[in-house]
Amino acid sequence: MTTHNVTALVEEFPLVKQLIGLEEVVWFNPNITSLEEGLPYVGLGADNIQDASERLQRFAPYLVKAFPETAPSQGIIESQVVDIEKMKGLLEAQYNTKIAGRLMLKKDSHLPISGSIKARGGIYEVLTHAEKLAMEAGLLSKEDDYSKLFSEEFRDFFKQYSIAVGSTGNLGMSIGIMSAKLGFSVSVHMSADAREWKKNKLRSHGVNVVEYEQDYGVAVEQGRKEAEKDPNCFFIDDENSQTLFLGYSVAGERLKQQFTEQGIKVDAEHPLFVYLPCGVGGGPGGVAFGLKMAFGDHVHCIFAEPTHSPCMLLGVHTGLHDEIAVQDLGIDNITAADGLAVGRASGFVGRAMERLLDGYYTITDERMYHHLGELSEVEDIRLEPSALAGMLGAVHVSNNTEYQARLAFTEEKLANATHLVWATGGGMVPEAEMAAYLAKSGR
Ligand SMILES: *Cc1c(COP(=O)(O)O)cnc(C)c1O
Repeated sequence: MTTHNVTALVEEFPLVKQLIGLEEVVWFNPNITSLEEGLPYVGLGADNIQDASERLQRFAPYLVKAFPETAPSQGIIESQVVDIEKMKGLLEAQYNTKIAGRLMLKKDSHLPISGSIKARGGIYEVLTHAEKLAMEAGLLSKEDDYSKLFSEEFRDFFKQYSIAVGSTGNLGMSIGIMSAKLGFSVSVHMSADAREWKKNKLRSHGVNVVEYEQDYGVAVEQGRKEAEKDPNCFFIDDENSQTLFLGYSVAGERLKQQFTEQGIKVDAEHPLFVYLPCGVGGGPGGVAFGLKMAFGDHVHCIFAEPTHSPCMLLGVHTGLHDEIAVQDLGIDNITAADGLAVGRASGFVGRAMERLLDGYYTITDERMYHHLGELSEVEDIRLEPSALAGMLGAVHVSNNTEYQARLAFTEEKLANATHLVWATGGGMVPEAEMAAYLAKSGR
C-alpha cells in the first residue's frame, strides 16, 4: 500500500487515523444482519458443527488415555464459566459506569492439554487429520473404540507422517503436543514474539521447534514452504482453515448446555454479550459462529484486539480484509499479548463473519496488564495478558447509547443481560513468568 493510498484510506475512514495513532477505538458495525441473512456468507452450517462435535466424541476415549487430566470430563476438552462479580465492581468504579446484568468469565485459559483457546481448534484439526489417515489405511472405522489409537501400533503408523504449523505460541502448543502424542513427527515454526517457555515445553514433548526473527506472517509462510517439499507433511493453515474454525465452533452448543445447567437464560429479553480476543480470527470467529448457531440473534459478539495489532478491525472496517496489513499503515504489530500479534487478518473469517459480529475495539497492553493484576487480586484467577483483552467489552456496551438504541436494548433488557469475557489463555504460564506479569500490572 503506497503513502498515497493510505491518505485516501484515512480520508474515507477517519477511524483508520485513530488506529495509526495507536488510540483505543470502539466500532459497532452498522451493517450487521440477522443470522438468517448472514449465514449464507459463512458457507458452513449446523451439520458441520454436528460433525465436529461427533468427531470429538469419538476421540474422547482416546483422550482420556492419552491425557489423563481429561478423565474427569470423560475426554471432552471444555472449560468452566464463572461469575466475576468483584471484578465487575472494580470495572464499574474505575470507568465510572454501570454494567447492568451479570459479568462472567469463560475459562478457556484453563482448558486441559494446552491451557488456551487453541486446545479447541488446534487439537481438533490434528485429530481430524489422524482419523482420515487411519481410515484411509483401513486401520480405523467410526464404530471403533478410539482408545485403540493409544498404542505402539498406531504411533508407528503416524510416525510416517508429519505435521507443520506456524504460530506465535499457543497454536503451536496445541498442535505440537497433540501431534507428538499421536506419534506424528511435528514441526512448529515460531515467530520472534513466542515465549521461551513455550518453545521449551514443546521441545520436551519431542516437537521440532523452528525459530524466526520475524513475526507470525513470516513463520506461517516458511512453515508452508517447508511442508510443500514433503508430500507426507500436512500443513495446518491458521489463516484459512475451516477445520480449525469448526473445532472452535463446538464451544457454542457446549456453552448453551452449561448455561441451561446453571439456569442462565438467553433469549429476546435476556441478551448475551460475548467479548473475544482476536488474533488472525479463527478462534474468535469459530467460537462466534458456534454461539450464533446455538443462541441465534440473542447473542452479540464483540472482538478485542491490541492497539498495535488491530488487523480484524482494519480489515472489516475498510472492507479490504486480508488485502491490508497493519504494517501497511506503519503500525508495528508489537504487543505483549501472545496470540494477538497478527498484522493481517484471515480473509476467510472476516468475509464469512462480518455480518454477524456486532463490534470491535482495541485495547493497550498497559490496560491488559492492569486488568490482569486486578483479576488476580480480586478473583484469584491468573491469565496471560491477551486473555484480558475482552475485559473492557462490557464497559463499551454499557456506554454506547447509539449501539443500544440501534439494537433496541432497553434498560430492562440490559438489566437481564449476561456479559461473558472469553479468557483465552494463561493456565499453563510458569510461576516465574506469571510473577513478572503481575509485577508489570502495577498491583
Ligand atoms: C490465538 C489466541 C487468540 C486469538 O485466536 P485467533 O484465532 O488467532 O484469532 C486469543 N487469545 C490467545 C491467548 C490466543 O492464543
